Amino acid sequence: MRSIPHFIGGRPYAGEPARYGDVFDPNAGQVQARVGLADSTVVDLAVADAVRAQAAWAAVNPQRRARVMFEFKRLLERDMQALAELLASEHGKVVADAKGDIQRGLEVIEFACGIPHLLKGEHTEGAGPGIDVYSMRQPLGVVAGITPFNFPAMIPMWMFGPAIATGNAFILKPSEKDPSVPVRLAELMMEAGAPAGVLNVVHGDKAAVDAILDHPDIKAVSFVGSSDIAQAVYARAAAAGKRVQAMGGAKNHGIVLPDADLDQATADIIGAAYGSAGERCMALPVVVPVGEKTADALRERLVDAVAGLKIGVSTDPDAHYGPVVSAQHKARIEQYIGLGAEEGAELVVDGRGFSLQGYEQGYFVGPTLFDRVRPEMRTYQDEIFGPVLQMVRAESLEEAIGLASRHPYGNGVAIFTRNGQAARAFASRVEVGMVGINVPIPVPVAYHSFGGWKRSGFGDLNQYGMDGVRFYTRTKTVTQRWPSAGPVLDQSFVIPTMK
Ligand code: NAD
Repeated sequence: MRSIPHFIGGRPYAGEPARYGDVFDPNAGQVQARVGLADSTVVDLAVADAVRAQAAWAAVNPQRRARVMFEFKRLLERDMQALAELLASEHGKVVADAKGDIQRGLEVIEFACGIPHLLKGEHTEGAGPGIDVYSMRQPLGVVAGITPFNFPAMIPMWMFGPAIATGNAFILKPSEKDPSVPVRLAELMMEAGAPAGVLNVVHGDKAAVDAILDHPDIKAVSFVGSSDIAQAVYARAAAAGKRVQAMGGAKNHGIVLPDADLDQATADIIGAAYGSAGERCMALPVVVPVGEKTADALRERLVDAVAGLKIGVSTDPDAHYGPVVSAQHKARIEQYIGLGAEEGAELVVDGRGFSLQGYEQGYFVGPTLFDRVRPEMRTYQDEIFGPVLQMVRAESLEEAIGLASRHPYGNGVAIFTRNGQAARAFASRVEVGMVGINVPIPVPVAYHSFGGWKRSGFGDLNQYGMDGVRFYTRTKTVTQRWPSAGPVLDQSFVIPTMK
């Protein structure tokens, strides 16, 4: 059985773990490898190693640090196919989508290549008589990232790209469900020229996470995962005095106004609801048509489109989506489908019991469509994170805005319309962090930043973009005056002002 080790000090960690986790092949429904689960001793080792590496790395000038990121980008492009296949084999998403996962991370690395420019501070000449004020951004030291299973390449790169480029050393605790690609990323960072210890990967579950949250030498923690855990991580890391950002779950709504291009909206909604088997925090699992006529016309198109979906193994180039990540997750999704019918929603297409010939043990779930879902239903309130699309009929744009705004999650939302006024008002008023206007998955580009509201995000700064630079640096501001040959300046016992 293949073992996936931690990666500490620039090489695989040779120690024997006390505990292992299984890594599955979701296509075949079998264990394909095992991963060592760290306890606090391993976390301590990784942090001590990162502390040793960090000061020298921070002293490397920003242009040289950027060159490592440029080279890392080249290596990612060189190895794209192999990385995507490895990612798909543990996650279950199709290879083309796995390439998207890597590419969206790579784009943050491209942003991090501009770090010499992004790190420039501010300067005011003559803020007072003979006084200049300047500020600089300095790295925090050793920082950590804890990432979910659903984007094992992109989300680690959201974090370690800006963190390392700004001069920190990084401890990555990736999901134990698909840990191989994160290790490959660390190996490629070393090949690109990052010194050993600047990126360490520690596998594990709650025990490793708690050791990270409590470790006094870790100055900041970035977390992405489900909301309850995000909130607990936020509280514990903050209590330990760390800087923390914690992104949580989602239940994104797609609002369809009567004047929308329904064919395009259908194509967009189907891709965003069922792509990656719905296992995206920016998936679109709720569709809200406004008006009965819009709802009926949309439903007809959705039913047709769902019938045309092809579910296949990750390596099938024609498959629209592959298996979900685990047997437990498949069972959970199917329970939610049952609950939705019990709660009184209309189960238009039932994806339970789906089996793929030749892969009967794989964790496949057929596409599922509900109509007449109501806001009080648990299946509407909860994140299902599977290939399940729920239609909630609204009578007005006002009602649709209210639905998205009142939902406990506030990650992303989309509106489909030709009416600029309506779209503009919607974008301004809706209480959700990321808005798409005729764009179903509004994940901001790498030089903006990513973050949801309400239970989708705890903390203030977003992921990547300038918020990423701010999160991984602290500002130092210097007020300076140089002695001149003149008389002694007035002594003051009053707080200096600019009066
Ligand atoms: P998860 O919360 O189960 O796990 C996330 C991380 O937390 C993993 O590294 C895991 O090992 C660790 N973890 C698990 N249990 C823990 C515990 N009790 N204490 C401390 N750490 C623990 O999430 P997941 O199933 O891997 O990922 C899916 C979830 O992530 C979904 O809710 C999805 O919406 C969310 N997500 C959010 C975003 C975002 O940016 N908002 C992006 C991707 C995924």
